[in-house]
Amino acid sequence: MILQYIKDLSENLNNAFNAQGIIRVLEEFFSPCEVESIDIYVFDETTSTLRDFARSWMGIDECLEKNKSKEIYQIFDKLKSKKYIKNKNTLYYPLLKQSKPIGIIIFNGSSFDTILEFMDYAAFSISLKIQNVILSEKMQKNIDFHDAMKNIAKTIETQYEITYIIPIIGEMIDKFISDHLIYIFLKKDNTENLELFWPGACKDKKIFELIKCLNNNSDYILTPDKKIGIFPLVSENTLLGCIVTKSTDNILSEKEIEYLEQLTTQAATTINRANVYAEILQHATLDALTGFYNRHQLEERIKQEAASAKRQNRSLCAIMTDIDFFKHVNDTYGHAVGDLVLKTVSHLIKSQLREYDIAGRYGGEEFAILLPDTNIDDAKMVAERLRKAVEKKKIDISKINSEAPEKIISVTISLGVYQYELENSESDLLKNADKALYKAKETGRNRAVVYEKI
Ligand code: GH3
Ligand code: MG
Ligand code: MG
Repeated sequence: MILQYIKDLSENLNNAFNAQGIIRVLEEFFSPCEVESIDIYVFDETTSTLRDFARSWMGIDECLEKNKSKEIYQIFDKLKSKKYIKNKNTLYYPLLKQSKPIGIIIFNGSSFDTILEFMDYAAFSISLKIQNVILSEKMQKNIDFHDAMKNIAKTIETQYEITYIIPIIGEMIDKFISDHLIYIFLKKDNTENLELFWPGACKDKKIFELIKCLNNNSDYILTPDKKIGIFPLVSENTLLGCIVTKSTDNILSEKEIEYLEQLTTQAATTINRANVYAEILQHATLDALTGFYNRHQLEERIKQEAASAKRQNRSLCAIMTDIDFFKHVNDTYGHAVGDLVLKTVSHLIKSQLREYDIAGRYGGEEFAILLPDTNIDDAKMVAERLRKAVEKKKIDISKINSEAPEKIISVTISLGVYQYELENSESDLLKNADKALYKAKETGRNRAVVYEKI
């Protein structure tokens, strides 16, 4: 009889693919024995901690109160010499690998005799199944990592803007390295200093001290407590910056260090190429993706147009526009679709403008438009026309992302409009258009707002 039960249990365990599945099977199996709940903790060799198997491998200290987790560590230790430990409401049973405890299974309930009888037969297969799931999760993480590396390489291959590439790299590392804060530092133009580039702030003074030690030949640095890791970004024997990991809980595993080494090599090559591109593009006039003036050239044109408006006493307006929720487009459909949206929106804008209007790519998904010889009422009309044209446009993404649930998507833009006051500095042009744009975002997006003095 008992053997038939155990056979069923093994079959059900075989059909479970993850930790939650296993626990569900066990809880169901042991429910006639008045088990209220089952917890499983597995010992992780690299961090020397017990991890909650069900909660995506969280440290026991995070899941339980301090006293409770301490108690479980003590019991785990005792299980090296005992078959099991039992008190009034809890049964602690070791998970064994070649007679060595590798984890602990905790039954919360009231009577344990039947459970103990079953465990004599079932402990081995439960333990084996848990080890298999852990192994396959690790392998899956590896596969995901390599896929992500490939995608990242493809995405950033065509990009030359550091401000765009670095957050992608940062977010990707964040995804693969658990329990760590990630910082990316880059060398400031023509100086030896590394400055924090991503994310916005780093308060840890020790990190700033440590990165001062980096040079062109540095290997990675780990602090003796292994809580901070500094991974230099070196390309063509030149230090470009570094990626810093700071532990919030666990230390870096060997596998994670290996990931970071691979990633920093790849990232350094990309950053180096972006720097070279940026230099070349400084001298070019057009933005490669949109065909608009690039920022550098846009600034030149602003100077010329402002001067000519002043000279001839003609009105000049500026529009700043920014795609709404563009990050969501990238996150949902991928960066290649994001690029297609950028291209489509910029072509639409171009098609709505007069020959002598000037359009530039100001930043990632921000465009600036100069309308010479145009008063504010007309500029407002142009802005409204652009807004409607974008809102109406259906963008076919099926060729770029065939797996997306939708074939057609659409986006909206917000716009800020400003008429240049001729006595003021030309820097007002985009600054005030941008303030109006901010207002448009703040008051709901997909709208054009005219700048108002306060
Ligand atoms: P909102 O403007 O409505 O406040 O939201 P948003 O999601 O558009 O906000 P934000 O300006 O913060 O995000 C802009 C995003 O644009 C972030 C960046 O990843 C993306 N981006 C910048 N340049 C490019 C590019 O060349 N290609 C692609 N695909 N995305 C880019
Ligand atoms: Mg935006
Ligand atoms: Mg933006």
